[in-house]
Amino acid sequence: MKVLVLNSGSSSLKYQLFEMPEGKVLCAGLVEKIGESTGKLELQIDDNRIEINEPFADHKVALHKVAQLLTDPQYQILNSASEIEAVGHRVVHGGERFSATTLITPEVKTNIQDLFSLAPLHNPANLQGIEVAEKVFAEAKQYAVFDTAFHSSIPEHAYRFAIPKELYSKYGTRVYGFHGTSHRYVANQAIKHLGLINQDSKIITVHLGNGCSIAAVKNGQSIDTSMGLGPLSGLIMGTRSGDIDPSVLFYLLEQGYEIEQIKTILNKQSGMKGLTGDNDLRNINTRALEGDLDAQLALDMYSYRIKKYIGAYMAALGGVDAIVFTAGVGENDAATRAKSCAGMHGFGIEIDSVANETRKKGIREIQHGKVKILVIPTDEEYEIARQSYNLILGKSPY
Ligand code: ADP
Repeated sequence: MKVLVLNSGSSSLKYQLFEMPEGKVLCAGLVEKIGESTGKLELQIDDNRIEINEPFADHKVALHKVAQLLTDPQYQILNSASEIEAVGHRVVHGGERFSATTLITPEVKTNIQDLFSLAPLHNPANLQGIEVAEKVFAEAKQYAVFDTAFHSSIPEHAYRFAIPKELYSKYGTRVYGFHGTSHRYVANQAIKHLGLINQDSKIITVHLGNGCSIAAVKNGQSIDTSMGLGPLSGLIMGTRSGDIDPSVLFYLLEQGYEIEQIKTILNKQSGMKGLTGDNDLRNINTRALEGDLDAQLALDMYSYRIKKYIGAYMAALGGVDAIVFTAGVGENDAATRAKSCAGMHGFGIEIDSVANETRKKGIREIQHGKVKILVIPTDEEYEIARQSYNLILGKSPY
């Protein structure tokens, strides 16, 4: 069965086509700069990469072009677009309404729209992608896979903020958490890898990409996570601040900053970028090795924050069986993994420095001590395809 996974951003569209249940990637790619005068479409089929440079007026034009390429006889991917039986959409915010992957109906779309105020940058783009896909792949079932859903198991004492309770009942101000598809995927991979299925398990998953978050996962269920109402809190990220005393915001307001300016500062100009001028850990590592003090401090702050959360989540879980590192930084940056786990041998957390530095495909164990430390490549697209496939078979998505 062919399942297409779509991730629509405001000016981009990522897609990946799977043969399920094998999980074979038939092709993948993205369209960038949608709505601009110059656009770019990439299509990757095995080792062949096709690039088309032309403007794409809107998401509909972009997705039509993708559908046309998928059915182009020269690429031999599909005979017809109707071969795609399911389209799985990444939707960032599911609020309290969606605790699981769901078939998209008109009511579901209305609910996604109602959540625009909670995810103003993402949900409108996600909904647009859904509406376009319903037209372009009219015969396929459309599913919404929410970034927040995995965290819907977080208990109330962890998801509530200690602010007047009517602000929760009126506006839904609470922790929702994000990167849920990635946390779920790597936690499940760890449980399988360690043979913990049907056993009690305590896992901490550390997703370090451009955005970063950490989750405490008990018996396969999220019980706490570092991102909150939006994606700003918790770990230090590429361009986002992570945890910050709210007094800083009021102080800046009093100094004459506008709300929009502060939003931009905290989302786009903070984190590693704010500290060093660069948000790519590769460059920051190089600069730190060359003696750049800003880069060294930023890296110290980055891994110190991760370590603090690991400690907090060990307390929340009552121990830890495994710590999982994933996403761009987590999978590739041995120095960050080593620093985040340093000085914790008293808790059974110790990295094997040789295993940590050794690059290998697939799941890697890099611990020296009692607590397993794993590097697991995340695969959110496969997870979305898998859940959509399970639903089309009438099974639980998970
Ligand atoms: P996204 O959150 O956009 O999906 P990724 O998970 O792809 O991001 O992570 C992107 C980040 O991964 C980049 O900003 C870069 O800093 C980091 N990264 C990629 N490769 C390496 C590497 N070899 N060493 C350190 N950091 C890396």
